[in-house]
Amino acid sequence: MKKFAIIAVALGLLCLLNTSPVQAQKLYWTASGQVGPLNIQSLIPSYPQARDIKLPVNMWIIDHPKGLMLFDTGNNVAVSDGNCKSHWTAGLCDLLKPSQKRDDVIDRQLQKLGYKVSDVKIVITSHSHLDHIGNIEMFPNAIHVLQKKELYQAWWPEKFQRNGVHVLADYDDARDFNYLELEGDYDLFGDGSAVILSTPGHTLGHQSVKLRLPEAGTVILTGDAIWMEENLEGYPASFNYSIMDYTKSVNRLKMMRDLENAKLWFGHSAKQYESMGEKWHK
Ligand SMILES: [Zn+2]
Repeated sequence: MKKFAIIAVALGLLCLLNTSPVQAQKLYWTASGQVGPLNIQSLIPSYPQARDIKLPVNMWIIDHPKGLMLFDTGNNVAVSDGNCKSHWTAGLCDLLKPSQKRDDVIDRQLQKLGYKVSDVKIVITSHSHLDHIGNIEMFPNAIHVLQKKELYQAWWPEKFQRNGVHVLADYDDARDFNYLELEGDYDLFGDGSAVILSTPGHTLGHQSVKLRLPEAGTVILTGDAIWMEENLEGYPASFNYSIMDYTKSVNRLKMMRDLENAKLWFGHSAKQYESMGEKWHK
């Protein structure tokens, strides 16, 4: 009888342990290589001083107790090792100057951490530009989280936005994947641990994600709603679908930062990447 009681207590403890793993999510910050050097004034026209910058093409791997997730999949694998012009337009290769090694691509990044591509359960794509949606086709069995409007824009971008940044070949074979098509904010697991935030402006249906990490606290991966620190200093990014929506999204994220004591981790900040990239965050 005593033995049964001990087993029952042990099982009870296991159940208790099982009720708290939501707090155990952690995040790995990596990059699909970088682009540049580019003059900051070509990206942020109102910025007062010209200077050349390189931008990391950020991606995040989120080990969540309810499934392995990605936030963005970087530049297409075909762009690796100097082969840009086989996949992007020549003009965009010359302009952005991507440097991506084969080992920088998301499948290898997952392998380095001991995961398989097939382990990825959820792919959150901030938006449909080439440096964010590039390898979506590596994940045919995942649930893909995108704003419905962004899917429309990916397939039929406005004429003024048709400057090569939508590469149809990145996602033409992903048409029948399993999409969670959102129209606004969405609490992915219903527990506040991963909340999709609608942050349009850079594109029609851009989205960010707010995570609750056990040690780092509340972190918002802004995607391209905010590229880098300078955008918070009153210098808006260019190439927006809507500058009004862009400004509202930046303000919304700033207020969430202040109200929730959240950290903002930007889409392309070299400064942040140098101090926090290639690391786990718990
Ligand atoms: Zn970008």
